[in-house]
Amino acid sequence: MLKGIAASSGVTIAKVYKYETPAIVIEKKSADPAVETAKYDEAVAVSKKEIETIKEKAAGRLSDEELAIFDAHLMVVEDPAMADEVKGMIENEKVNAEYALDTVAGNYIAMFESLDDEYMRERAADIRDVTTRIKYHILGVNIADLSLIDTESVVVAHDLTPSDTAQLDKKYAKGFATEIGGRTSHSAIMARSLELPAIVGVKGILEAVKTGDVVILDALKGEVIVNPDEATIAKYRIKEQKYNEEVLALKAFKDKDTVSVDGHKITLAANIGTPDDVIGANDNGAEAIGLYRTEFLYMNSQQLPTEEEQYEAYKKVLEAMNGKQVVVRTLDIGGDKKLPYLPIDPEMNPFLGYRAIRLCLDRKEIFRTQLRALCRASVYGNLCIMFPMIATLNEFNAAKAMFQEEKAKLLAEGIQVADNIQVGLMIEIPAAAVLADQFAKVADFFSIGTNDLIQYSMAADRMSEKVAYLYQPFNPSILRLIKMTIDGAHKEGKWVGMCGEMAGEPDAISVLMGLGLDEFSMSATSVLRARKIANGLSYEAMKDLAAKALQQTTAEEVLDLIHATVK
Ligand code: PEP
Ligand code: MG
Repeated sequence: MLKGIAASSGVTIAKVYKYETPAIVIEKKSADPAVETAKYDEAVAVSKKEIETIKEKAAGRLSDEELAIFDAHLMVVEDPAMADEVKGMIENEKVNAEYALDTVAGNYIAMFESLDDEYMRERAADIRDVTTRIKYHILGVNIADLSLIDTESVVVAHDLTPSDTAQLDKKYAKGFATEIGGRTSHSAIMARSLELPAIVGVKGILEAVKTGDVVILDALKGEVIVNPDEATIAKYRIKEQKYNEEVLALKAFKDKDTVSVDGHKITLAANIGTPDDVIGANDNGAEAIGLYRTEFLYMNSQQLPTEEEQYEAYKKVLEAMNGKQVVVRTLDIGGDKKLPYLPIDPEMNPFLGYRAIRLCLDRKEIFRTQLRALCRASVYGNLCIMFPMIATLNEFNAAKAMFQEEKAKLLAEGIQVADNIQVGLMIEIPAAAVLADQFAKVADFFSIGTNDLIQYSMAADRMSEKVAYLYQPFNPSILRLIKMTIDGAHKEGKWVGMCGEMAGEPDAISVLMGLGLDEFSMSATSVLRARKIANGLSYEAMKDLAAKALQQTTAEEVLDLIHATVK
């Protein structure tokens, strides 16, 4: 049995699909040109078919922009100039096909990479991807391809990027386990929105399994059991069924209010990454969108999305929520989220560096475009705008002033803008939590981003499984920062949400309710369970629990207290 961090709940049993890119060595050999040309043609044909299949399978799951990547790949695989060069080299130099392709592709890649144009440099990545696929086929090496999985599998990988995760077809991919990552890495967040059981940070799993092994993924406890015996499988089938039944039973809470037994009302909201995620939010009974991570709009595009594209996306979300509150977070790029077309100079500590609002206040044209799109979309619903990674009042005031300027400009141009847009900030830097009472005088609301607040408070990288033990939502120090934030806001009559993963933790609902949190925003799939829990609690009792929790000395003591109080 291997242990990791349960990143997305569920239990599943299936065969392993190992996702690895095998290393290949290209050697120069002399060879028969006729044989090598045939090998090359065959490998190109197979590759082309594969890319078409991947594209077909991804249609419906991915956006048009994401699908366009495959069109670019098809153009490379069919490129006549490259084929002529490869075949010319095979013919003239009597070399093997993989060597000829490696040389020709290498020249193209170097040429594209040397260009100034960012878009052209991106094409180098397409050429590398496609020609690697062809080389694998020439050499007869099996390529692991997530979107080609066509039997029920558990994907095992070193890591999965958000775009790898997007390729998973839920019909066959029953869950995944990765060697690295933490509960708040973005592949884990994607797994929760796809409702796939996932365990991350499973050290040594690639060594321990091979494709075809049977594994039990217990993503309730964070355990992977390799090649279990029949009795163990039977035991876990029961656990899987029980979990699935529980999920089904939770549906009864879909249209209920979220209110404690003594009448204290809270709002349960969903976190989304794309406009399409609103469907899951509504299906799971979310009362609002508490965090729309707009950076995915930027990450899924080949260049900065235009004002028009952004306007359409925001409008879609606001309309789909039908008047319910939608909190849109402005661009939060940097850290583990990069834009290929917006290179950022390498930094020693990207999570502490040039990211989010810091970048937006510097690259004002990018920020202003987003603010204009938001203002224009605001008439279609109930919009709140929030700024990420605010450390100082000056930053917040500067961002808010830019919003007001763009709004005034639009109004002067005769374009309608809602007059009730709320402007708030994320509390994810301890400095902002400590000054919450002062921020509350100028902001309409706060949303606590515990994913970052915890990493900055504990100085523990949220991406690192080695220091995951320090990543402690229940540490009394974190609870005190949350209390300061909530008290600071309430003193000025402002509301406070939480959109970090802590808001959806079953064990955290009680203490957060007791601290007075108004809005809990989480993965859509956590909403119903959270409602069931909240509706069984007494607010008065939770206030006592929270007061005691603040006086504990360790996270373990806080958790023991919660478990002793909330049955
Ligand atoms: C957070 O930091 O808690 C948060 C919600 O933002 P992200 O996870 O996107 O950094
Ligand atoms: Mg954050």
